[in-house]
Amino acid sequence: MKNIAVIGAGTMGNGIAHTFAQSGFKVQLIDISEEALKRGLATITKNLDRMIAKEKISEADKKATLDNITTFTNVAEGVEYASLVVEAATEHVDLKLKIFKQLDEACSEDTILATNTSSISITQIAAVTSRPDQVIGMHFMNPVPIMKLVEIIRGYNTSDQVTNTIMELSKALGKVPVEVNDYPGFVANRILMPMLNESIETLYNGVAGVTEIDTVMKLGMAHPMGPLQLADFIGLDVCLSILEVMYQGFKNPKYAPCPLLVNMVRAGKLGVKSGEGFYDYSESKKAENVAKQFA
Ligand code: NAD
Repeated sequence: MKNIAVIGAGTMGNGIAHTFAQSGFKVQLIDISEEALKRGLATITKNLDRMIAKEKISEADKKATLDNITTFTNVAEGVEYASLVVEAATEHVDLKLKIFKQLDEACSEDTILATNTSSISITQIAAVTSRPDQVIGMHFMNPVPIMKLVEIIRGYNTSDQVTNTIMELSKALGKVPVEVNDYPGFVANRILMPMLNESIETLYNGVAGVTEIDTVMKLGMAHPMGPLQLADFIGLDVCLSILEVMYQGFKNPKYAPCPLLVNMVRAGKLGVKSGEGFYDYSESKKAENVAKQFA
């Protein structure tokens, strides 16, 4: 595999592009928004500079990584030579189905189509293509260049060969792949999201404040980041979409999103990416509150 196309240059897409490019792959980074591509490249550059400051990579590594990335706003052009496409567009089922239909038409017949979806059925996505055996979940964790895990999700029809290829490719990126089956939320979010939702519910019920809830979980459970901070970091819209998929998929009220989460998303409070969530990320406070997440 040489050419990897990444669809979406947002929080995850730019991290996925960064990781492949740093491992020597040619990356075609595609987004419908020119602005998102610019922001994505700026984030990759900033993260590479941070790695240089920590003496993890050299200036030459940074240049080689950036040289490996080309950007596109046209999907068909961007995926023309791709052996693998990793889709990391917004978490909406109709959008993913539309993108996969488009990819199936535009990509060569042996191209593997992977999705970074947090919760949407791989089997459902694969069913809109003519190659369900070549569709797989490749669920990277945020921030992608740092986090080791890749959850590899087999759809109902995903072949052994494609699964093995993606497991080996993940190892070549320096990651640890874990194979799981295709049920709502897979493993990571099935366990994580109810905890984040319960933290929001605890705040909503007035049991404790934002900092108090996060401090209990950080100091009491040795979590590196409080659950409300983590929700801000993931994106409250992404958390809501995942909970809705699990709620609908299992028809179990334990996955029902907390009304406070729903209201915050409706109000445009999406966490770090919108400048405000449970914490303030406006320009004056951003450095301080983002740094706290890694403290
Ligand atoms: P995001 O909102 O930060 O970025 C999504 C990007 O997709 C935007 O730049 C948008 O312009 C682009 N996009 C939308 N429609 C498109 C299209 N038709 N073609 C090309 N680009 C398009 O979202 P994100 O947080 O990066 O999430 C992306 C995916 O990764 C979702 O499926 C999400 O569930 C998953 N995921 C997110 C996290 C996280 O922590 N945020 C973690 C793991 C997986």
